[in-house]
Amino acid sequence: MKTPTLPAPCVPLGLLLSALILPAALGLISCSSAKTSPGKAALWAQFAGEAHRNASNHGFDPASPVDARMKTIPGWLLDHLRAADNRWDYAAFPVGEAERARVRSALALLPGAWQGILKEHLVAIYPVQNYWGGGFTEFLPEKSGAVRSYLVVNAAAFQATASRWLSWKDATAFLSDDEDFRVRVDAGGLLSGFDYLFLHEAAHAVDYAMHKTPWVEADLKTLYDLPGTPVPFTRGVWTGYTETDAAHHFEGRGALSPYGFKGKPKLPISGAAEFYRRLAKTPFVSMYASQSWAEDFAEYSAYRFLEKKIGRPIRVSVLKSGKPVFTYDPTRTAAVKARDLTGLGID
Ligand SMILES: [Zn+2]
Repeated sequence: MKTPTLPAPCVPLGLLLSALILPAALGLISCSSAKTSPGKAALWAQFAGEAHRNASNHGFDPASPVDARMKTIPGWLLDHLRAADNRWDYAAFPVGEAERARVRSALALLPGAWQGILKEHLVAIYPVQNYWGGGFTEFLPEKSGAVRSYLVVNAAAFQATASRWLSWKDATAFLSDDEDFRVRVDAGGLLSGFDYLFLHEAAHAVDYAMHKTPWVEADLKTLYDLPGTPVPFTRGVWTGYTETDAAHHFEGRGALSPYGFKGKPKLPISGAAEFYRRLAKTPFVSMYASQSWAEDFAEYSAYRFLEKKIGRPIRVSVLKSGKPVFTYDPTRTAAVKARDLTGLGID
């Protein structure tokens, strides 16, 4: 997926803590996409000519610990992102021991097998200031069959709690037609926005490498002749990359624009309680999870791993004048508990 134009695995964006409620200019990131691919040979030739898809250009050393791969973004790659997004205010975030420590603590939230997959496949992690979305995961295809990746994360995530980041993420989908309403996602105060972003993006990296979902990018389906057949997690839920099974259609899904990736919000926040009541009947842990099978997998994984650490469910509340009018635990609904996790490596 290319940073600017695609939908996909990703996360939120530059969030100034002082402007958390329905910030106007959000971006989203694209983590994967459902675009149509050209032919296989043309794709291999195209990717071979793209410097950012070559692991050696990231200084990748498979023997290095994953936290050592958190690096200050090199100028050539920053220039690439600036041009791709037409965002000339992107700036390198200087990485030091503190940022590498953040990677170590986030990595520890993942199962050991996933840590091993990342050690083999994740070539670099770059925080970027003023990034228009939360982050994204880019794939590096190799003819050996290995699909490595690198992550870009918005440096603002270092400063937010996971609760604040998740609250902001959901709030971005609502039009503020009544200032008495708020959406709150409570994931405790222990973990950070970076933890959430890392878990979400790491799931995309694992998906790229291990094909946990039928395919994350149409280009990868073409390059590796992936059959695209359903896996247990998607069977009965998704009929296509962004198409849900008829049983799981719900009013408002098409109007969702979490992170602003489909433009300005369209759902009135005065109707948020009704919206979440509908979402609570679906297999999706978040509205963003309902946008594609890749985001479904990334969100489900991230929520579960966050919860394992905090020792309780993440709780979503719609507040009116500070008082809850609807509350639920997204991973504890009947439909989510019925998800088939076979083969995902999530217990
Ligand atoms: Zn994503």
